Amino acid sequence: MPRTATADALTNWAGNIVFSPAATARPASVGELRETVAGARRVRVLGSGHSFNTIADPGADGLLLSLDALPADVEVDTAARTVRVGGQVRYARLAREVHARGLALANMASLPHISVAGSVATGTHGSGVDNGPLASAVREVELVTSDGSLATVGRDDARFGGVVTSLGALGVVTALTLDLEPAFEVEQRVFTELPLAGLDFTAVAGAAYSVSLFTTWRRPVFEQVWVKHRTDRGPLDFGWAPAADTPVHPVPGMPPANCTEHQGTPGPWHERLPHFRAEFTPSSGDELQSEYLLPRGSAVEALRALAAIREEVAPVLQICEVRTVSGDGQWLSPSYDRDSVALHFTWVDDTAAVLPVIGRVEEALAPFDARPHWGKVFTVPGAVLRERYARHADFAALAARLDPRRAFRNAFVDDFLGG
Ligand SMILES: Cc1cc2nc3c(=O)[nH]c(=O)nc-3n(C[C@H](O)[C@H](O)[C@H](O)COP(=O)(O)OP(=O)(O)OC[C@H]3O[C@@H](n4cnc5c(N)ncnc54)[C@H](O)[C@@H]3O)c2cc1C
Repeated sequence: MPRTATADALTNWAGNIVFSPAATARPASVGELRETVAGARRVRVLGSGHSFNTIADPGADGLLLSLDALPADVEVDTAARTVRVGGQVRYARLAREVHARGLALANMASLPHISVAGSVATGTHGSGVDNGPLASAVREVELVTSDGSLATVGRDDARFGGVVTSLGALGVVTALTLDLEPAFEVEQRVFTELPLAGLDFTAVAGAAYSVSLFTTWRRPVFEQVWVKHRTDRGPLDFGWAPAADTPVHPVPGMPPANCTEHQGTPGPWHERLPHFRAEFTPSSGDELQSEYLLPRGSAVEALRALAAIREEVAPVLQICEVRTVSGDGQWLSPSYDRDSVALHFTWVDDTAAVLPVIGRVEEALAPFDARPHWGKVFTVPGAVLRERYARHADFAALAARLDPRRAFRNAFVDDFLGG
């Protein structure tokens, strides 16, 4: 839930963004939602509030919508291997219900606390050389557009490339239909002290279904490598680094008990694919985050560019995580049309100290055409970002068609779309 820092301050999960909308609303039915949207001059939805920037902020004259009072449907179709889920539903509940029917999502993010619609709207992803972002599972989106009408857009619709990773700029997503597959088990292990020197990134990242490398950048070494191996894919062979002999947490100083089991006991996909357990605070809790996605072939060169500035990065960094995401077809996806490496930074919770370092990281990664995660802190101006999204104009045209009165525009979206 978004935290209320004081009686009258509504903030995001991290507490670095305070929302001061003209009004808030919690419609209890889709009918009420349609009337509310049609009557609002400016409107944005707040999902589970886990983004670190103003992407969800409707501005001082806007309406901030919570969908928490809408019916939270999770309808599994076991024959079709799909699930239709309310946009506001969190992955933790979705995953439990899907697993109970013997089925699985292909992948999950590091935490299950986040809403489905909010996650796919920002291009949220887990790891895996053959795993797209979470949006790749979406086959249909149901939304309420700015005149209050209902639209359903499936994969065979020409608008589909814009409607999933939409930055919340096209309408209110009431439900999504996702692909499922038969449930599978995952064995999770952590390896330690993998040096950057001599790193065979392709081999290490491809050694299992999902691999994450963690470094504090205090040394050019990955202190932890989290390996999530599907037990239906033969035995795990990871020979590059020694296994951890006790439970760990990726963020130094945080309790290992907050993490999913990682000592090799096979378990259900949804209890191994996220790093953090649903019942506990994910990550550190006092933090800011940034992340940049760039072509996977540049991974080692980009890591060397970060190593060159590590003495500036390390003092304000809690942990850096390196993951892979396969290319997808959403026009605004940070992994659009290219197999990517994702370079993530969990910073200390000090905006003034962190922002100049984010600028240094962005300079270092600019030669690699890095696309920032839409839900995290970045400073790259919209005019520069547009150059990094070949389908930017198609998205702007779709936004103009679905939202001609610009009710879903906010300062964040305006900066990217221009005009
Ligand atoms: C501790 C932590 C760990 C994280 N780990 C990962 C990770 O592993 N991988 C990763 O990629 N990201 C990660 N993130 C980022 C996170 O996944 C994104 O910020 C994501 O958008 C969060 O979903 P949300 O529901 O909280 O979205 P919000 O922040 O609430 O909203 C994001 C956007 O979606 C829009 N939106 C939300 N719901 C709707 C709706 N129903 N209809 C229309 N628009 C809507 C909002 O208006 C906004 O524009 C992490 C964040 C935190 C705090």
